[in-house]
Amino acid sequence: MTDHLIIVAGGTGSRMGTDLPKQFLEINHKPILVHTLERFYSFDSSLNIIVVLHPDFVDYWIDLKRTLQLDIPHQVVAGGKERFFSVQNGLNAIQAETGVVGIHDAVRPLVSKRTFETSYHQARINGNAIPVLPLNDSLRTVEDGQNKIADRSKFRLVQTPQCFEISLLRKAFEQAYHPTFTDDASVVEALGVHLNLVEGNRENIKITTPEDLQMAQAYFTLTKEI
Ligand code: C5P
Repeated sequence: MTDHLIIVAGGTGSRMGTDLPKQFLEINHKPILVHTLERFYSFDSSLNIIVVLHPDFVDYWIDLKRTLQLDIPHQVVAGGKERFFSVQNGLNAIQAETGVVGIHDAVRPLVSKRTFETSYHQARINGNAIPVLPLNDSLRTVEDGQNKIADRSKFRLVQTPQCFEISLLRKAFEQAYHPTFTDDASVVEALGVHLNLVEGNRENIKITTPEDLQMAQAYFTLTKEI
């Protein structure tokens, strides 16, 4: 059975402070989105891949692919105003009735093979799987000018690919958009479905700031295989 992958790259993210959206910035002379695409393709070349792009950058991507002679098969879909709508557009581009759909942030090029395999495998068995990590730092809540220690053992950092049986994901994305939908797990959770947590990998950072970009660069240089 073919599985699916939606890579969301529909944002224009301003926190990086660059004109070019962060997914197109280069690490080792290659755009982050290309690293992400190549990594998944190396994990499973039979994946049905959909890349969701901001409408203003579709032509840019087509030119880039030509320049880089990128021959990884994928569909290109225009994104929406919020991540929710970008995922919805990606999902609408999938014709199949079966298989697991993984949704991955384009700006996480350092996902490990283990995170990939565990997430898809668990979703195949239990309907969904969300890669997470425990916190190493101490944690404080800040509210009304007061701050107080929080029990970090109760929290997890959430990563991608978040994986779901396609029928479950379709049902979830039939719901009306709500601002609390910051990832796909939150959309599925709104159906009252239990989410299965699996272990992510530390290197799988979401490149958001210039410091993240340096850290990702270091991981690429230092780590032969993640
Ligand atoms: O904005 P944020 O960093 O949370 O975005 C996470 C991922 O979702 C990024 O890969 C970004 O390109 C994508 N995104 C999207 N469509 C939007 C907003 C964000 O595909 N409207």
